[in-house]
Amino acid sequence: MLCPYCGHDDSKVLETRDSEDGSVIRRRRECISCQQRFTTFERLEEVHLWVIKKDGSRQRFDVQKVLSGMLRACEKRPVSTELLEETAQAIERDLRQSSGSREFPTILIGEKVMERLKEIDEVAYVRFASVYREFKDINTFLQEIQDLLTREQNHRI
Ligand SMILES: [Zn+2]
Repeated sequence: MLCPYCGHDDSKVLETRDSEDGSVIRRRRECISCQQRFTTFERLEEVHLWVIKKDGSRQRFDVQKVLSGMLRACEKRPVSTELLEETAQAIERDLRQSSGSREFPTILIGEKVMERLKEIDEVAYVRFASVYREFKDINTFLQEIQDLLTREQNHRI
């Protein structure tokens, strides 16, 4: 279980809890290396989800990777780790409940993360989006920020 903060692969378990339906074990862990605390969700009946990458290769879906991406985007932002953990889990739940498919293109997962980050923290959203969409040019990036500001203004009215 890699630490989402520093990538160290050893952690100690502080607390273990079953989810309500018993299908997921939730473990509160502390990284041996950086002492950051994080939560892992381990499935008892593991039905693997797969991610189809841009080059067509398949990779196991890993909720920890989703979480790491969001943690990076939210660095120094007033967003709690707990909220991001819940969000990452909610994204996985979404995927599991959608369409009965077990394979998802990376772009779809990225869009789901962006959708949720947009609600949580706009700076984190733009950070994530700029990395994720690999903005081809500055105009695309500016357009994205413009859209964001427009939405923000509409929000206030
Ligand atoms: Zn660590």
